[in-house]
Amino acid sequence: MMNFSWRCPFCNHDVTIGEENYSVNEFHFCDNNQHGHQLIITEVITCPNPECKEYSLKLSIYDGKLDEFRQFRAESRPKKTWQLIPEAETKIFPEYVPAPIISDYQEACLIKDLSPKASATLARRCLQGMIRDFWGIQKDRLIDEIKAIEDKVDPKTWQAIDAVRKIGNIGAHMEKDINLIVDVEPGEAKLLIGLIETLINDWYIVKHNREESMKQIIDLAKNKKNNSTK
Ligand SMILES: [Zn+2]
Repeated sequence: MMNFSWRCPFCNHDVTIGEENYSVNEFHFCDNNQHGHQLIITEVITCPNPECKEYSLKLSIYDGKLDEFRQFRAESRPKKTWQLIPEAETKIFPEYVPAPIISDYQEACLIKDLSPKASATLARRCLQGMIRDFWGIQKDRLIDEIKAIEDKVDPKTWQAIDAVRKIGNIGAHMEKDINLIVDVEPGEAKLLIGLIETLINDWYIVKHNREESMKQIIDLAKNKKNNSTK
């Protein structure tokens, strides 16, 4: 197999996956079912980051076809894929990100394909929760809360929020009451989830890392001072 690059959903590290971190298995069945020959392929990827070593598991089902050697092969695209571990394509965020935000985010990911409109409703609540918690802004409509942070967030982040809110029904969605469910396309729900992931990273994680490195500098400076006064 060829090595490929992969972002671990547990530790968010970009890593290279080779044979030693990758297992794939397939089995087929027919049993006179009405869909014909079916192939099930399971794929396991283990994160090589020594501090992580978590594995991710995915299962896909394909229609089978006979190749020129009369071997069953999978059709090129799976009929259905289940991301089993971690559940859905959910990023694992650190514990210092507020629990209600993580819980809305995870649920939005879990139902993204099953019910994009429910997913978008949760993502919208999650976005509102973040603006209220992180920026301390509270207004009646999400759209007004978003407008209130325009001059506070960095321009790139603002561009991302602005771009997503202008797509399809999402914009209309943000102008409505928080409890109103509006139809959205699966692609739109996915975009909203991507925006939430970016904002959790840009706001909570960047701030936390900055505080940690400042703390380290202060501690180092203190030690130096203590040593020089001895
Ligand atoms: Zn990892």
